[in-house]
Amino acid sequence: MNIKFDEIYYEPSVLNYPLGQKLHSKYANLSWIPIDNHNNIPQFRQASNTEFTKLKQHLILGIRKTHKYTDNHKVSDYLVPYTSSGCSAMCLYCYLVCNYNKCSYLRLFVNREQMLEKIIKVSHRTQNSLTFEIGSNSDLVLENTITDNLPWTIEQFAQKGKGHLTFPTKFDMITPLLPLEHQKKTIFRMSVNPAEIIRKVELGTSPLDARINAVNAMCDAEYPIGLLIAPIILVPNWKQLYSELIDQLADTLSEKVKKTAFIEMIFMTYSFVQNAINTEAFPGALTLYDKATMTGRGRGKYCYRNPLREEAEGFLRQQLSKKLQMPILYVV
Ligand code: SF4
Repeated sequence: MNIKFDEIYYEPSVLNYPLGQKLHSKYANLSWIPIDNHNNIPQFRQASNTEFTKLKQHLILGIRKTHKYTDNHKVSDYLVPYTSSGCSAMCLYCYLVCNYNKCSYLRLFVNREQMLEKIIKVSHRTQNSLTFEIGSNSDLVLENTITDNLPWTIEQFAQKGKGHLTFPTKFDMITPLLPLEHQKKTIFRMSVNPAEIIRKVELGTSPLDARINAVNAMCDAEYPIGLLIAPIILVPNWKQLYSELIDQLADTLSEKVKKTAFIEMIFMTYSFVQNAINTEAFPGALTLYDKATMTGRGRGKYCYRNPLREEAEGFLRQQLSKKLQMPILYVV
């Protein structure tokens, strides 16, 4: 997958970093527009919702200044701000839109050494083996096609860090990761959804069969593996779609994945902001908000009503135990 950008917006100091210089020659044919702060580009904040897809074509370069870790109690111990935030894909439910609104375009941070050094330092601070989620703000496999940050991260952490790194992805460009000396210290998690939902909702991401091939290849390369069935979207024919998804996983995941990987399941939440942007920027797209099945969850967010959610969880657990028998770590 080759991401095409139209313009680069950059904090001038990024050119003092090797990655900034590398990107400067890689995208020398594009306009480079200086900005004061990657966090606040007034003309983008003021753009109308209809310009959302246009904004996604920009690449923003900056220095990450905030390095605050957030406690997490799922796969990882901490959510860690890492080398990017935002994304050039356009999943209609993307939670980053809740955080960044229209400014959920891809932002790359060139001070990767500083960020990884902190992770390595924190990893040695305790007797426990900690897990650091480095992909909660973007998709690092997609980012890696531009920066080559992942091979460097995975091998540096394998050599110097304690515990694990982990990140989820919706992309299949994992070839550069296969030969790495990772020492099983990076947990690779692939997000899956029914092929029809990927086509209609996860715009610009890799197709389901390519994601499954990528998981099999990463497992063969001895990475610890997780599978995220997420976000679960209860469209009218959800039973048929998710039953077909689990059939396909049972038929095409390798035996090694089935024996060693774990599953996470996350039901979709949706927000007023996403609904407003999607309605204006993607007028023909599938509508994810459904008044009949969803209810408010505070601060402009919606989730599925309890009876439907419980029915769906029961159905999915039953299908998984019949066809896949992989451990389910949690359902939220
Ligand atoms: S791939 Fe992930 S980060 Fe990118 S738009 Fe989709 S949900 Fe958002």
